[in-house]
This record gives sequence, C-alpha cells and structure tokens, in this order.
Amino acid sequence: MRTLLALISLSFSLLATAAPYPPVTVQVEAEQVAPHSYYIPGLPGAASLANQGFMSNAGFVVTREGVVVFDTLGSPSLASAMLQRIREVTSAPIKRVIVSHYHADHFYGIQVFKDAGAEIWAHEGARHTVGSEDWRLRLQQREALLGTWINDQTQRFPTPDLWLSGDTDFELGGLHFKIRHVGPAHAPEDLVMFVEEEGVLFVGDLVFKGRVPFVGDADSRRWLKALDTLIAFQPKILVPGHGGASDDPVGDLTLTRDYLRYLRQVMGEAVEELMPFEEAYERGDWSMYEKMPAFREAHRRNAYNTYILMEKESLAK
Ligand SMILES: [Zn+2]
Repeated sequence: MRTLLALISLSFSLLATAAPYPPVTVQVEAEQVAPHSYYIPGLPGAASLANQGFMSNAGFVVTREGVVVFDTLGSPSLASAMLQRIREVTSAPIKRVIVSHYHADHFYGIQVFKDAGAEIWAHEGARHTVGSEDWRLRLQQREALLGTWINDQTQRFPTPDLWLSGDTDFELGGLHFKIRHVGPAHAPEDLVMFVEEEGVLFVGDLVFKGRVPFVGDADSRRWLKALDTLIAFQPKILVPGHGGASDDPVGDLTLTRDYLRYLRQVMGEAVEELMPFEEAYERGDWSMYEKMPAFREAHRRNAYNTYILMEKESLAK
C-alpha cells in the first residue's frame, strides 16, 4: 500500500513537472518567409527582464515528413511558446534541431524540443563548451538577469544526438538542406542552414540585421571569410539571429562585414602605433552605428575585444 501511495505521489509530481515553465507574456509569433520556411522574430536590444530574454530569432521549416528547427530561443518558456506556434502550422513530428551556436539566447530552450522528440545536431567545435566552467558561470549570470525565466533547477541541456564534423546535407520531405560549418567566426561551432528549394538561409549570429553585432571573442578575420561563403549561396531570404528577416541578404551581409572591417581597421592601426585602447576608441568615428540598437551594450566591448585580437594578430606576424 505504501509503495502504491509512493507511486501515486510520484506520478503526481511527474504530472506537476510536465509543464514547469511559466508562460511568457511577450508576443512570440511565427512569420512565414517562404512556402515552407518560418521564423520567430525576437524583440530588439539586449536580453532584459522587460523583454523576458526574447531578443533572438529562431526558425523552422515544415516538410511533409517533419519539421526542422533552427535554434530554440533563450529559455524553455520561450521555446514552449515557439512550439505552440509550430503546432498551429503543422502536426508533423519535430524531427531535428540544428544549433547555430551555443550562446544562451539561441539554445536555452533546447530541452523543450528534445522532449518533443527532436534529434539535436550541433557542430563538434562546441564539445568543450558544453558543461564547462564558463558554461556554468553563464547560466548563473543568465539566471541573475532573467530570474523568472531561467532557473538552474529546471534548466537542462541535453547533449547533441549528433556532433557534426563539417558540412552536412540532407533531404526531408522533398526539401534539401545544406548545413555549413562557417566557424570559428562568431563562435567556434557556427553553423548556418540553407534550404535550397526555398532560397532561405538561416545564419544565426553571423549576420546581425539593423543592430550592432555582438562580437564577443569571435575571430573577426575568419568571420569576414564566412560572410563571403554566405554571399556565395545567393540567398533570396536571409534569417539572421537578431533583427528581421531580410529580402536584401547581400545588403545585410555587407553591413556586418563593413562594421567588422572598420573595427579591425581602427584597432589595427592603433595597435601598430602602440596607441592605448582608450585613445583609439576616441579616435574612431562610430557615428554610423551609434543610433543602432545594442550599440550601447555591445559596441565598446566589441571595440575592446577587437583591439586585443589585433594585438594578438600583430604579435603572431
Ligand atoms: Zn551569439
């Protein structure tokens, strides 16, 4: 009897944890960009309590045999809302999640899709990131910033079912998907996904539309090279990791490329002249970018990281 009671209370607690994520109140909508391709446009700016961490995009492609998801937003609550939007479009199984890169705002919702039956694919460049000390610190920081939405009790990070070692193509329900590893650029594990019949390119954070990119510790020299690879796809529609989808992909690729080039130019010259960072920063003309979203949050750090990178590159010469 006691065992039975214990079992009953266990199944009740399992039921209670079946939907452990508080529902978001921000508008999580799906926008169709091609016959089978959709994306979820995040709000502008950096993650905050006000936007509930909803500041990045994710995408999905609906085929007759199943759904391919590209990134999973910044929390399980946001991912649950995204899954609801997918379910309004199709009841086809969620086959696969492609992780563009392991930054908190792009994959913290991943467990929702794993629980929905998806296989997770990511690039092996992230093997050492998963579960690392940085990873734990990041989770703590995210929880401090977005307390209600990120909870280290409920947050789980399922390991990928497949670590990709390079470019991978597959077909599903008559659509052809090309997964390309373009890192290390924004992150070592950067993956982009091109849906051939749709002309839609999902690029994660390799391209930021209408906002200053977050450079982090990216290798901007390789990033510039990756941008050339993307242009070669000649996409009709580009879905970036932040900002709206673009029907002028080349224009957006160019904006990100010019920003990175200019940062490297200003900081590179300063390093050559042995000029301290502060002075170099003052000398740069950032007026083209200072009205863009995320300038205040991201730009100075981008500049500083680029200064350090240019010092390293100069020492390696
Ligand atoms: Zn990122």
